[in-house]
Amino acid sequence: MGFGELKISEIDKSERKKLGVDIPVTLFRLIRLIGMGKLLGDSSGAALYTVGKTVGETLGVKTAEELLKLVEDLKIGIPKVVEMSDKRIIVDVFECVTCSGIPNIGEVVCHFEAGLIAGALGKILGKGTKTTETKCWGKGDKVCEFETLLF
Ligand SMILES: [Zn+2]
Repeated sequence: MGFGELKISEIDKSERKKLGVDIPVTLFRLIRLIGMGKLLGDSSGAALYTVGKTVGETLGVKTAEELLKLVEDLKIGIPKVVEMSDKRIIVDVFECVTCSGIPNIGEVVCHFEAGLIAGALGKILGKGTKTTETKCWGKGDKVCEFETLLF
């Protein structure tokens, strides 16, 4: 079994009596933005979306409310539903772990999070999903906005 097969319940068991379960956002971003960006180059966005979608499908959340709670519990960010219909769901995420506070680099960077939302919503609703990040600190916004098309 490779480490990619580990389940959330298994990686959740950290033995860190002094340091606890939280890590600095900087460490996460070193891996998530700089590391992945250097490793995968121009294809990192598509790759991270695919990874996020696979993870989203395996989270085990059963309702949209559970997904929103998980996003906040894992400190991915603070989600707020902007619009929800049977064709489209728009969610804003404040204080995003990946991008909040980064400079405007002219592109969105939260591809993993977009994939996660697509995968989880697809599983919950039993529909095809395509999620696009339409606002991001990476392109000068002060919030991330994810638009999910349902089909
Ligand atoms: Zn973002």
